[in-house]
This record gives sequence, C-alpha cells and structure tokens, in this order.
Amino acid sequence: MPSEFDLIARYFTRPTRSTGVVQLGVGDDCALIAPPANESLAVSTDMLVEGRHFLPDADPESLGHKALAVNLSDLAAMGARPLGFSLALALPSADETWLASFARGLFALADTEQIELIGGDTTRGPLTICITVFGSVPIDQALRRDGARANDDIWVSGSLGDARLGLDILMRQRKLSASDSAIALQRLHRPSPRLSLGLALRGVASAAIDISDGLIGDLGHILQRSSVGATVGADVLPIGSALRSQDQQTQYEFALTGGDDYELCFCAPPSQRDSVLTAAQSAGVLVTCIGQISEASGLRVLDGAGKPLNLRLRSFDHFSNP
Ligand SMILES: [Mg+2]
Repeated sequence: MPSEFDLIARYFTRPTRSTGVVQLGVGDDCALIAPPANESLAVSTDMLVEGRHFLPDADPESLGHKALAVNLSDLAAMGARPLGFSLALALPSADETWLASFARGLFALADTEQIELIGGDTTRGPLTICITVFGSVPIDQALRRDGARANDDIWVSGSLGDARLGLDILMRQRKLSASDSAIALQRLHRPSPRLSLGLALRGVASAAIDISDGLIGDLGHILQRSSVGATVGADVLPIGSALRSQDQQTQYEFALTGGDDYELCFCAPPSQRDSVLTAAQSAGVLVTCIGQISEASGLRVLDGAGKPLNLRLRSFDHFSNP
C-alpha cells in the first residue's frame, strides 16, 4: 500500500526525455548525467522556506515557477546551459490541489528552459522547497565572480527594483495603480532567469553574478572576489517601470538594494561594448552600463551631479528584516 507521500512523488515523476546528457532520470538510486566533452558541471542549490522566502498564502503555481527560476538564475550567472534539476520537498500535508498547481508552475518553466527533473524526495514537514540545478559550461568559460578588472564596464540586464516594490504591495505597505501593481507582483512572483544572456556573454563578460539580494550587495561579491572597487551612477540605473511611479529616494533605494530581481550584473572591458550589446540583442534582453570597476577598493554610488549618494543601504533579507 503506497503512502500518501509515495502518491505525492508521482506528481513529480514523468518520463525523462532523453537528451543524451541526462542518461538516466527519476526512478533509480541516482540519476546519471554525462556533461558534454570538455565541459564542467555547474551545480547550485537554493532553498525556499515558508514564512521566510514566501508567505503562507503564496500561489502554488507561482511558487513552482519561482523555486526553479531562482536556481536557473544561478546557472545563467555562470554562463551555464541547464541540464537537469532535483527537487526535495517538505510538506505539512498531502494537499493534492496545492501539489498539482505547484507542479504545473514548475514544469511549465522546466519545459520552456528545456531542463529535466532527474530526481528528488518528498517528506512531511514545514513547507520547504529545495532545488538543485545541474548545468554545463565549457571548461574555462564560466562567468565567475573573480574576473573583474579595473576599467571594466559594469552592466545590468533588464530593470531593477520592481520585485522589491511588489514585496511592499504584498505586505500592504504601499498602494499603486492596478497596472503598476500587476507589473511589480509579476516581477516578484515570476522572475525570468536570464539564461540566453548568460550563454551569449561567454567569452565577453569578465565576471558575472545574478541579483538575488540587491545590486549593491551582489555587486559587492564581485568586487570582493575580484579585489577591485567600483563607481556606479544612480541616475543611469534602469529603474523598473512600476517603480518609476515612486519618489526618487524610493527608486534609488529599491533599485540599489531591493532583492529578487534575478537580473544579471556583469563586467566587461570597454573593448567588448559592441559584443555586450550584440549578446543582449541576441538574448532579447535590455542591458545598461551603470558604472566602472576601479582599482581603488570600495563601492561609490554617485547621484546625477556626481555627488556620493546618501542612502540607507542594506541588502534585502526577505521577511526577517522589515
Ligand atoms: Mg546567485
């Protein structure tokens, strides 16, 4: 007699399409992955916990999308191509309506990005979603955090801050027009991993990271790992379209420190400007040059007049730091 959790597991068991790379998917003790010759396996894990990363009444279909999207965003930031992912799920009860909806959101994105579910586990416990993604990237072509050099341009994809604005709407701390609310909540709940851009930036970008905790904090990781500093112009930041309805201080704060954007922040030598723009065009994503890497350490954010910006700069720490 199968347990209810065996039944749940069936929601996440579907035939693995043979990609040549995934040799064996769900159904054995381990999945088998054979990365293409001369490629490194890129591996990343992200965990989403109810109450910390999402609210208890979160829409399960969006949650399925986001849980995979945030992991794919890490592959994008490395310039890696997705191969497969595993899913570990703790659930307080076997709610089949919730599961069907979660699986729909998860597999819709998996199909779009052509990544296979290759294994996982389900158990009873507080709602927790843990996904591990596997990707591949040609040896020595991964976009790492430690490759930024003085005088490199700093770029970001898409726009910033709308997801942070969406969080305020969700927490009922801000009222916006219906259309701006819809945009902000879409950005918060349905991030788009920039996989095509990551692939197109191989051999072009010197360093990259995805913006999960806020531009300042995540760019800070590149600066630290590369032992360099940077100057960023607040007035050239690509402000999200819904965020543009707010005052300038809020625009700057959310664009610089708001989390959950899942855009790419990357560096490239000025000689690569045309290649960056070509890569962005081929990926169908807007990119904006927001500053330069410097030899002097530290991060300076300047306003339109070239004066240092005075901001409460704190990285986004989900719901624990209101
Ligand atoms: Mg990341």
